[in-house]
Amino acid sequence: MQNMLRTLGNRGFSNASLETEFQVAYRSYGTRFLFVSSTVAAVYFLVFFSFDLLTGHRQVTDQVQLGRLGLSCGLLLFGSATRLNKSFFTRHYTAAFVAIVSLVCLLSNMIITTGHWQDDPMSLLWGLTSATVFATVMVYGFARLTAGPTLLIASGIGLLALAFAYQQPQAHGTGFQRMVVHLVAANALGYCLYRFSLARERKLFLQSKRKNHIAELRRTKEQAESASRAKTAFLANMSHEIRTPMNGVIGALSMLNDEHLSERDRLFVKSARDSARNLMHLLNEILDYSKLDAHKVRLSPTPFDPLSLISSVAHAFQATAEQKGIGIRRDCHHVPADIRSLTGDEGKMRQVLLNLVSNAVKFTQCGEVLLSLSVRKLGSEMARVTLDVSDTGVGIPPDSIDKLFQPFYQVESGSNRSYGGTGLGLAICKQIVDEMGGEITVRSVLGIGTTFEITVDMPYSTEALSEAERLQGSEGFADTQPPALAELRLQGEVLLVEDNEVNAFIATMTLESLGVSCQHARNGEDALALFGQNAFDVVLMDCEMPVMDGYEAARRIRQMEAADTARERTPVIALTAHALSGDREVCLANGMDDYLTKPFDREALALLLSRWLPVATNA
Ligand code: ATP
Ligand code: MG
Repeated sequence: MQNMLRTLGNRGFSNASLETEFQVAYRSYGTRFLFVSSTVAAVYFLVFFSFDLLTGHRQVTDQVQLGRLGLSCGLLLFGSATRLNKSFFTRHYTAAFVAIVSLVCLLSNMIITTGHWQDDPMSLLWGLTSATVFATVMVYGFARLTAGPTLLIASGIGLLALAFAYQQPQAHGTGFQRMVVHLVAANALGYCLYRFSLARERKLFLQSKRKNHIAELRRTKEQAESASRAKTAFLANMSHEIRTPMNGVIGALSMLNDEHLSERDRLFVKSARDSARNLMHLLNEILDYSKLDAHKVRLSPTPFDPLSLISSVAHAFQATAEQKGIGIRRDCHHVPADIRSLTGDEGKMRQVLLNLVSNAVKFTQCGEVLLSLSVRKLGSEMARVTLDVSDTGVGIPPDSIDKLFQPFYQVESGSNRSYGGTGLGLAICKQIVDEMGGEITVRSVLGIGTTFEITVDMPYSTEALSEAERLQGSEGFADTQPPALAELRLQGEVLLVEDNEVNAFIATMTLESLGVSCQHARNGEDALALFGQNAFDVVLMDCEMPVMDGYEAARRIRQMEAADTARERTPVIALTAHALSGDREVCLANGMDDYLTKPFDREALALLLSRWLPVATNA
C-alpha cells in the first residue's frame, strides 16, 4: 500500500533516492498544505454565508447557514489541529481515517437527502455540495498524490454527488447548476493550492538540502583543517624533540678530534657523522614539506643577482662533483646585459636549484651537469626566467616521469636501492615553484640524461644592487662564511642557560675549545641570579626550560638593564630547537639579539659568536 502510494505520489525527481527523501520530507511538509487548504475551504463557506446574509437571502438561523457556519468552524479547527500536532497528521493511518470519515459524511448526507428532498431541496443540495468539497480537500491534503490520480478521485467524488443530485427531480434547475459550479470551483481551487504547495515544498526541500550539504562540506573542511593543523603541530613537536638529542650527538661528534683516533675509530666517527647529517637532512626535508603543505611558507621577494645565485649553487657542489669525476658547467649567456637584478624569493630559488643540482650530481656517474639560465623580457617590468639543470646521468624511465613530483616517490625503490634520499626533494621543488606561480618540467632519455626546467615570471631591474641588498642575499650561505673557523679563538665570558645536562656539557666543552670561559645556569631564574652578580659578554639562552623559560628570562634581563644605567646592553642569543618559521621573530620580540637553531656544531657556534665576541689576538 505504502509502495503504491509512493509510485502514485512521484513528484518528478528523476533521482530515485532524492525522490524517496522528498516523499519522506513531504509527509511533514504536507501538513502545511492541509492547514492552508482547510482554511481556504472554511473561508469559501464563510463567503457564501456572509453573501446570503447581507443580501437578505437567508437568515442566520437558516438550516443551510447553520450548516455552512458549522462546516467553516470544523475546517478551521481541523486546520489548527494539523499545526499543533504535525507528527499525528503525517501518519498514514490518520490520513486514511480522515478520508474515510469525510466519505462517510458525504454518503450519510446522500442517504439523509434521499428521504427529505421534497422538504427543502436547496438546503439539501448545499449539504451535499459542502460534504463533497470537504471530501475533495481531504483527498488533496492527505493522499498527497500527483495531479493525475488526485483529479481522478476528486472528479469521481464530485460526479457521484452530481449523479445522485441529478436523480432527484426536485433538485433540477438553478440549484443543480449552482452545485456544479461549486464543485468545479472547489476542485480547481484545491488543485491550484496543491500545485502551489508542492512547488513551494520542493523549493524548501532543495534549499534545506543545499544548506545541509554546505554545512556538511564546511564540517568536513574544518575537520580536514584541524587534522592538518594537528599534523603540522605534531611534526613541529617531533622535530623539536628529535633536535634536542641530535644536538648532543652532533655537538659531541664535532668535538671529537680526529687526530688522536686510530684509523678504525676514525671510520666509526665518520659513519656516525654521516648518519647524523643524513638524519638532519631528513628532518629538515620533512619539516619543509609539511610547512609547504600547510601553506605556511610565505615568499619574501627581494632584489637579487641571478648570476651570483647560479654561481653559488654551482660552487656548493664543486667538491662533490670533482670527487665523482664529473664537471659542473654554467651557461648564463642568454641574459640581456642591461638586466642587473630580479625580484623574487632568492632563498627559495636557491633551495630549488640546490635540490635539482644535488639530484643531477647524485644520478650522474660520468659526463657533466649543466646549469643554464636564460632571461627574456616580457615588457618594461616583467621577465621570464628559465633555469635548466641538465645532466648526463642514468635518466628516468618514461612511466615514472608523471610520478616524480609526488612526495616520497623514487624510481628505484625497495631493497635494490643504490641511492640515498627520501624522495621529498622534487615534491618540495614543485610546491615552491607552484607557490611562485611558475612551472617545473622534466625531459629525460633513459641512459642518456635528464633536464629539469623551471620557468618563473619575475620583475626585473636595470639598476645594480646596493651593497646591503647583496649582503642580504648571501646571508646564511656557506660560501660566504669566513674561512678557518676551525682555528678561530675568541675572548670573553659567556653565560650559558640550558636545562639539558648533555647539551650543557657539549656547549661548555665547545665554548672552552673556542677559548671562551663560561658559567652555566639551569633555568631562567638561576640565570637572572648569576646575571645580577656578574657581567657577561654574551648570554646563550635556551628557550624552553622549567621554572622560568628563556623568553621570560630575556625580558627580565632587559628590565634589569633598564633599571641599572651603569650596565651596558648584553647580547642575548637564543638557542632553540624550534625550527618553524616565525620562531626567530618571537625571540627577537622578547628582547633577544640573535638566534641559533639546535642542533648546532662547533662551526655554527663559532661563526655566531664571532659576530658578538672579539677574536683572540694571540691565537
Ligand atoms: P631527497 O629527498 O633526498 O631529494 P631523492 O633525491 O631520492 O631524495 P627527489 O629529489 O624527489 O628524491 O627525486 C625523486 C626521484 O626522481 C629520485 O629518487 C630519482 O629516482 C629520480 N630523479 C630525480 N632527479 C633525477 C636525475 N637528475 N636523474 C635521474 N633520476 C632522477
Ligand atoms: Mg633529491
